[in-house]
Amino acid sequence: MKRLMLYEIDLTKTDRTGAFPCPKCGAVISPADESQNVYSILEKKLKGNSLEKLIIQCKCGSEIHLVGFLKP
Ligand SMILES: [Zn+2]
Repeated sequence: MKRLMLYEIDLTKTDRTGAFPCPKCGAVISPADESQNVYSILEKKLKGNSLEKLIIQCKCGSEIHLVGFLKP
């Protein structure tokens, strides 16, 4: 069984659109893109009413944990 690759992306360190390349395959992933052609959303973690973490899976199979939604 292939081991799942896990990455964590801090959205405060991406460009203003929040788009970033997949650390493994380089496909551009944009949280604003809801077509889910490049990635699919596995899980949303909420803190109160705010999104704290988004777990997505890239089409290449990498699991990417998006953090940094909450402004400090
Ligand atoms: Zn990928």
